[in-house]
Amino acid sequence: MVSQSKLPVFFFGHGSPMNAIEDNRYTSAWNKIGKSLPKPRAVLVISAHWYIGATAVTAMNNPRTIHDFYGFPQELFDVEYPAPGLPELAGEIAELVKPTWVGADVDQWGLDHGTWSVLTHLFPEADVPIVQLSINALKPMEYHLELAQKLAKLRSQGILILASGNVVHNLKMLDWRTENGGADWVQRFDNEAIRYMAEDPANILRLQEHPDYSLAVPTPDHFIPLLYTAGLASVDEGTARTIVEGYSLGSLSMTCFAA
Ligand code: ZN
Repeated sequence: MVSQSKLPVFFFGHGSPMNAIEDNRYTSAWNKIGKSLPKPRAVLVISAHWYIGATAVTAMNNPRTIHDFYGFPQELFDVEYPAPGLPELAGEIAELVKPTWVGADVDQWGLDHGTWSVLTHLFPEADVPIVQLSINALKPMEYHLELAQKLAKLRSQGILILASGNVVHNLKMLDWRTENGGADWVQRFDNEAIRYMAEDPANILRLQEHPDYSLAVPTPDHFIPLLYTAGLASVDEGTARTIVEGYSLGSLSMTCFAA
């Protein structure tokens, strides 16, 4: 069951929590990928929505499904993603990334919607153990890129790494008249991210100098997961390919990558 070869690494643009229960070209891409994969030992998810003042991994046997949003239909609050955890992975990660400190979270977090809204499509049976790695909000951008590179060994230990955020995520600029559209600045920034992922993921942080950066990344939470995929892709001078690209509601990029 567990692949001995190197498992892929993904970045999924998760967009609205509604994607958990919708069927569109992004969710069908996620579903298709899941069907093409060997069953991993576990999935390690870096979600935009576990953005805290520490580096931690979930270490519970049965992580709870967290409904960390409001103003959505009851149907979405009824979604449960009952995948098991894999508590032993916390210790393996702590060892691997030394001297960086990683805490084991046994009772705080669980699976947030950045995780389960995509996993309901990637592994709909919820039969693969899921572990989340928090985003340490107190650390500089470089920390995340370097931490990602330290996690690379997990790929040959049966661990699939999935980062879930959005390349462009500006909720203040949403345009409800355009379901699948993206403003000019969204497209410019997204295209530049695609170029870095395909050509030079090790230098993804140069996107911070892009003229549209402050609009595209008004807060770092949804952008940082991309740094994990870029960091992992850049090991051994690798690159990442685009799986699906597009926009949502004018100011979100739904672009997804694999490496
Ligand atoms: Zn989100």
